[in-house]
Amino acid sequence: MTEKIIDGKEISSEIREKIKKFSDVLKKESGRTPGLAVVLVGENPASKVYVKNKIEKTKEVGFNSIEHKLDEDVSEEELLSVVDKLNNDDEIQGILVQLPLPKHINSDLVLDTIKPIKDVDGFHAENVGKLWSGLDSLVPCTPLGCSILLKKLSSDLSGKNAVIIGRSNIVGKPMAALLLGMNATVTIAHSRTKNIEELVRSADILVAAVGIPEMVKGNWVKKEAIIIDVGINRIEREGKRILVGDVDFEECMKNSSKITPVPGGVGPMTIACLLLNTLFTSYKQFGKQEIKLSDIFE
Ligand code: NDP
Repeated sequence: MTEKIIDGKEISSEIREKIKKFSDVLKKESGRTPGLAVVLVGENPASKVYVKNKIEKTKEVGFNSIEHKLDEDVSEEELLSVVDKLNNDDEIQGILVQLPLPKHINSDLVLDTIKPIKDVDGFHAENVGKLWSGLDSLVPCTPLGCSILLKKLSSDLSGKNAVIIGRSNIVGKPMAALLLGMNATVTIAHSRTKNIEELVRSADILVAAVGIPEMVKGNWVKKEAIIIDVGINRIEREGKRILVGDVDFEECMKNSSKITPVPGGVGPMTIACLLLNTLFTSYKQFGKQEIKLSDIFE
């Protein structure tokens, strides 16, 4: 690994160690253990892998992990009643409904049924509104992870141009809110944007969250740019199944000052931030003095 590479694996492992320490203190002081419930609907292979990883890491930091597996054809009503039960369960501080949900289920309705205080994915409209208003809220895990990686390089992005490719509610939009909060000048590109290459060339900070393997080419990237690659794409190369991001890593690394690899960049940060959110909201729900990101990184 060169010094250009932002090692999300290592940074996330440090964060999880800190979470474990805070979790031990919280358990001792409150006599309670934070509980994270994960709801998985159907048999999507990628979702199953994500959920397995999340459960493993949840246990590692000393939280209780509760898994609810539901059949692909579960009714919306049944799923909502599971969420409702978890909302009212004092043993559960965080609820995560793994996306995507089957087409017959209204995902927005399900996400908005989760109590905002237990919404560790940060997708509830109340948390989204608070994030955009600059108020304290639970922040979506992937963009939160990206912002932590960026803060390690510089906490104030005044005068910097940030370009995000992708406008999803999960990554692109909340990422824009976080970058604005760090004083960057933010542009969001999407499938209807013209001249993406030109926009990318103006970026001091590039966040790629598109889902197109190696879409961003080396000659699109400004010299000394910081590149955060959110993409996780499974492709076949030289007879092997491999994971690549949304940027052409080898080419883009040449121009960039810092870059996240895939795998080992943003992915592990997402899980660490899920646990962070569970820790934050557990302090709140156990009636303890609230803690913030700055407490973790002191
Ligand atoms: P979505 O499919 O929800 O959004 C993709 C975005 O990319 C959309 O806004 C879309 O535009 C835009 N887009 C599509 N094609 C183009 C194009 N040719 N030019 C410019 N923009 C385009 O994806 P997500 O945001 O959920 O995820 C993005 C990527 O990040 C995926 O690879 C996903 O696997 C990965 N991911 C990784 C995570 C991690 O932990 N590392 C977590 C979450 C996602 P439009 O809105 O116009 O359709």
